[in-house]
Amino acid sequence: MATEGSSGPLIQIVGAGIAGTAMAHGLLLHGRSTHDLRVVDERPSPPLEGAGIQLSPNAIHALAALGLSAPPNACRPEAIEVLQQRSGREQRLARLSLLDFETRFGAPLLTCRRAALQSHLLEALADRGLTIDWGHQASIEAEPTGDLAVKATSPWRIMATGVAAAPRRALGLAPLAEPSGVALRGWIPAAEGEPRIQLWLGAGGHAVSYPLDDGRTHLVVCAADEPAARRVLEHLPSRCADFTPLGTWPLTDPRHIATEADYQHPDWPGMVWIGDAAHPMLPHLAQGAAMALEDAAVLAPHLAHSGLGQSAALRHVLARRAARVARVQRDARSNGRIFRLGGLAGWARNWALQMAGPHLMVRPWLYGNRPSG
Ligand SMILES: Cc1cc2nc3c(=O)[nH]c(=O)nc-3n(C[C@H](O)[C@H](O)[C@H](O)COP(=O)(O)OP(=O)(O)OC[C@H]3O[C@@H](n4cnc5c(N)ncnc54)[C@H](O)[C@@H]3O)c2cc1C
Repeated sequence: MATEGSSGPLIQIVGAGIAGTAMAHGLLLHGRSTHDLRVVDERPSPPLEGAGIQLSPNAIHALAALGLSAPPNACRPEAIEVLQQRSGREQRLARLSLLDFETRFGAPLLTCRRAALQSHLLEALADRGLTIDWGHQASIEAEPTGDLAVKATSPWRIMATGVAAAPRRALGLAPLAEPSGVALRGWIPAAEGEPRIQLWLGAGGHAVSYPLDDGRTHLVVCAADEPAARRVLEHLPSRCADFTPLGTWPLTDPRHIATEADYQHPDWPGMVWIGDAAHPMLPHLAQGAAMALEDAAVLAPHLAHSGLGQSAALRHVLARRAARVARVQRDARSNGRIFRLGGLAGWARNWALQMAGPHLMVRPWLYGNRPSG
């Protein structure tokens, strides 16, 4: 693995996941040249692992603001169905048509593999003349004097390091996320009929399935631990007998709801944190990638022109971003709780879903957002 040299370009982006590559697009689009940028990632090569990602209309708007289209092989589900398994029978609690999303929110809701989104971003960066430094771990170290300082090769850095705790720890900052159960992921055969997202509710865990590139359905089961996730799986329809596991994915919950200081810590004004590195979130609202793309689309114009200087304009933008992602973090957490209710509370949830289902499932403030708006 390479380590840092003593000189470098003007802007270093640490982490070439979704947030980091999206930010590179934004900076190039807003006038920075490839000579100004260096994007590093500690992984030896672009990761192919990872399961699926939902791209809600706000994510598609963020991609467009970065000069990008949606990944070419993304699927377009026609509905979201909420189901419950009762006495061996599948009961539909609510159905939301997605066909009018484009009219209502200006873009469709799409699903794709995470690797497809990542490849799409990387290929477009290569087209713009930027290559990634894979296998390069940014060194963020404490000075021997005991003062914590960044051993920086760039005047400033964009930290897009995901939920990794190490970069924050190296600066003496507390981690933003803590473990919160697992997602057990795998393939099940596609549901017959229209391509759709299905959400199964159950006490102690829930499951989501959606179509991906080749029409097979992908299933994610979220629960406290792997045995609990497998118990949820046993109560799902017969399609789940053909479950082909993809392994587990650790879930993380934010320790606190995001603030402006999580984007730019007052002690480290030469750094801006974006994506999961600034605001980890549970996946129960399917917004992790969307918020990373939005960060890039909203912040890149400011960072490209004004840098990281703590100007009032940048503080204003960061405060607005923090307020929006905080709302998403809260809603993702509360979705998880609601999905797993049992007993009387579960009954009340089902009743509310049956009465007002589609209205409860749509968030215009979230889906209708455009980075420029
Ligand atoms: C391999 C992989 C698979 C994933 N699969 C799923 C999934 O199936 N479902 C889901 O909901 N979410 C998944 N995620 C997380 C999802 O991509 C993010 O929650 C979301 O897209 C926000 O993106 P991000 O760029 O902030 O973080 P990430 O996409 O996690 O990217 C962070 C990047 O920073 C790099 N990095 C970390 N520390 C350093 C360092 N010190 N120096 C250099 N590079 C560093 C990492 O290698 C990584 O590439 C996955 C992430 C990865 C990395």
